[in-house]
Amino acid sequence: MTASTASTALAAQLEPGQDWVYSFGGGRADGDATLRNLLGGKGANLAEMSRIGLPVPPGFTITTEVCTHFYSHDRAYPDGLSDQIEAALDKIAAITGKTFGSTDNPLLLSVRSGARVSMPGMMDTVLNLGLNDETVEALARLSGDERFACDSYRRFIPMYGDVVMGVDHELFEDALGDLKDRRGFELDTELSAADWRELISQYKQIIDDEAGEAFPQDPHDQLWGAVGAVFKSWMVPRAITYRTLHNYPEDWGTAVNVQAMVFGNMGASSATGVAFTRNPSTGEKALYGEFLINAQGEDVVAGIRTPQPLTKKAREEADVTSPSLEEAMPEAFAEFMRYCNLLEGHYCDMQDLEFTVENGKLWMLQTRSGKRTTKAAMAIAADMVDEGLITSDDALLRLDPAAIDQLLHPTIDTSVERKVIAKGLPASPGAATGEIVLTSAAAEEAAAAGRDCILVRVETSPEDIHGMHAAKGILTARGGMTSHAAVVARGMGTPCVSGAGSLRINNETGIINTGSMKLKAGDVITLDGSTGDVMLGAVKMQEPELTGAFSSVMEWADGVRRMTVRANAETPADAETARKYGAEGIGLCRTEHMFFDGDRITAVRQMILANTTTDREAALAKLLPMQRGDFTQLFTIMAGLPVTIRLLDPPLHEFLPRTEEEFDAVAQDLNVDASVLSERTQELHEFNPMLGHRGCRLAISYPEIAQMQTRAILEAAIEAAKTTGKPVEPEIMVPLVAGSKELAFVKETIDGVAEAVMTEKDTRIAYTVGTMIELPRAALRASEIAEEAAFFSFGTNDLTQTTFGISRDDAGQFLGTYERLGVIEKDPFITLDQDGVGELVKIASERGRQVKDDLKLGICGEHGGDPASINFCESIGLDYVSCSPFRVPIARLAAAQAVLRSRQSGDGA
Ligand code: PEP
Ligand code: MG
Repeated sequence: MTASTASTALAAQLEPGQDWVYSFGGGRADGDATLRNLLGGKGANLAEMSRIGLPVPPGFTITTEVCTHFYSHDRAYPDGLSDQIEAALDKIAAITGKTFGSTDNPLLLSVRSGARVSMPGMMDTVLNLGLNDETVEALARLSGDERFACDSYRRFIPMYGDVVMGVDHELFEDALGDLKDRRGFELDTELSAADWRELISQYKQIIDDEAGEAFPQDPHDQLWGAVGAVFKSWMVPRAITYRTLHNYPEDWGTAVNVQAMVFGNMGASSATGVAFTRNPSTGEKALYGEFLINAQGEDVVAGIRTPQPLTKKAREEADVTSPSLEEAMPEAFAEFMRYCNLLEGHYCDMQDLEFTVENGKLWMLQTRSGKRTTKAAMAIAADMVDEGLITSDDALLRLDPAAIDQLLHPTIDTSVERKVIAKGLPASPGAATGEIVLTSAAAEEAAAAGRDCILVRVETSPEDIHGMHAAKGILTARGGMTSHAAVVARGMGTPCVSGAGSLRINNETGIINTGSMKLKAGDVITLDGSTGDVMLGAVKMQEPELTGAFSSVMEWADGVRRMTVRANAETPADAETARKYGAEGIGLCRTEHMFFDGDRITAVRQMILANTTTDREAALAKLLPMQRGDFTQLFTIMAGLPVTIRLLDPPLHEFLPRTEEEFDAVAQDLNVDASVLSERTQELHEFNPMLGHRGCRLAISYPEIAQMQTRAILEAAIEAAKTTGKPVEPEIMVPLVAGSKELAFVKETIDGVAEAVMTEKDTRIAYTVGTMIELPRAALRASEIAEEAAFFSFGTNDLTQTTFGISRDDAGQFLGTYERLGVIEKDPFITLDQDGVGELVKIASERGRQVKDDLKLGICGEHGGDPASINFCESIGLDYVSCSPFRVPIARLAAAQAVLRSRQSGDGA
């Protein structure tokens, strides 16, 4: 049963008109943990704790449906709400023996908001509600402590004044500060009851002056004021922004929790604190948290007094002398520990708790699943499996695959305050600090001199590959998530922020205008490639660390998943990383990336600029041994695992020089006149190179390129098979086909050369030829294409680009606006557009398999490393996903989760 059907069922059992308010306390509750949508997270858990017998101050929850009603009825409350609240107050009175509004034995209340997820921006808490000029005297009498009563009242007035009546809280703080100055006191604890009384009159005056009305003395008015403030806070701009950012619908609404007050500020035997049942940053199984003796909740977080650790061990480790809760209140501590274990066992998860001790008696105020770092999440999940609390499948489903990035790259220390000077796309995760360099040559120079640098470019091109290797991080002003900079940086594991649109880079003057400030080459900046933040100066980092828990989780994931996980890799370093992270093959080797290195770019340019086949063949002959060497290394590292090598794909303009300086240097290298070079470049100019002379079109116009590459692949396979003793079965992939004839043509070229090489070497190699499906036409004509192909690899970067008709390199300029305005939900270059692009992938898979039931199907676009897209790949039965090496662990976990989810939905069906 889902929470909402449970809530409907429960509501249906109630008398009509009785379901706006749910009571809890005294070991009973109307609701329970399944009613999160109706009671909010806090209310549902208070009900649950009450139900299982934990000491929860009695109270009631006004449901989220009241909030929805409030906004759909011009801010009016539903009929019957007031009676239900009165009845619920009577129930509290019956349990506590105290009456709301009584001047003999007054019941005081706390009022808190509580949506189904915790939401910053909402009204938080009003404590001590019900105090007025009369009830404060009763409280003084009953507690025998006038100072405590006045302290509670002087806390209540500004809290109420601020959150309910909209009076600036600074005014109250100033009044308190003035009083302390006048008395010559430093600490609040030095003030007497008389001092508080003086302050209380001042506070009331402030409210009169600022709000234009008196602080309400009637407890019922106070209660309705606080309830209204909670509901109104649902629509304050901060809350709306937060909801928009997280895609939380407005009609969720918030609940209001009203509870009998318990006092942590009743003297030395009272205290209040917060705790996590395990360490939320490391995951260590040890109670973690802090408390204050003689204090109320807000003191713990306000930072006026320093809270103390809960356990003796933590106190000793922190080298603190004031006693821990364990030492100061051993009985309450022992009871609290019992509840921690009980709640962990009950919810099967690490809990974040709030508690108060009033005169030695422990009260539980809140429990919820605790937020934690990825490292802690891994450790806790693995420990809980060992402890028998959860199964390994539960553990897998609990982890956020995307957050694994945090474990593999250095990250910005979480305690650091970020001073962001520019923002772009989180193109390649991890953080990096270094001095700004504006050219690849400068990056290489800095690296050679042992200085860390960040390469800052308008956009990167193949020309920049050395600089990108030398730099610690890459920042570009233009380009989306699949731009050259983003794809190459992810492959290398180098942090990258792309498309930081506010940057104006002047390469002449070396000045970068960020919009808010000017930077120059040599200035130190820090990038966070996981968030897109650019910060000034060096920022403190945390180094990654792979733990035993990480290995256990990965092993469980491998045991569950059906799809294999490969990596997109071309350099030996990438291939090594891929294997280290568990890749089971290479799903995409972009051979053009091998062309950027060292002297090769010269030979490549000679090949491109050649006017005749003979000239082209001469240039290709220079490339052959280099390519063969690369492939041999790759096959050797991958030791028998499948390796998919793609024939040259990009538009040739990407290899050509751009600036005048580059032209001169290239002309010199090639020993031709600069004018000849520029003429040939003009000839090659294309208006839409991404839709131009690229992919299999190159292999058709210049078969000698495909011939050279095939020869290199086959010769390398023969060589690597000999040295490793493992059979190498290369998969040769033809890019950007639109129809079967193109593939048939290129395949014939490949087969011809392969046959020749195998005959020359007198060795057979079980190579296969397949194709990328990255054009809508190819997806639609998949049945014919499958006749020619041993495999399909979905190139969803291009398929997204061509399906949407959005240039992947220019998308950054407007997709952000689209997302903000809700025109699209998610950037389709990051998360596969399942409705459109996904449908093409599905169609192609089905049509391909109808013709060839053993047609191997995989994905090698960037979506191969995106958890939601991986889930889709599982659902349509692909055989493998391929992603950048650093995303391999993410993909392993996401692929396992996809299987578990499909089992769950199968069970539920
Ligand atoms: C693709 O288009 O999805 C792909 C993997 O190829 P590239 O990104 O190299 O165009
Ligand atoms: Mg492509």
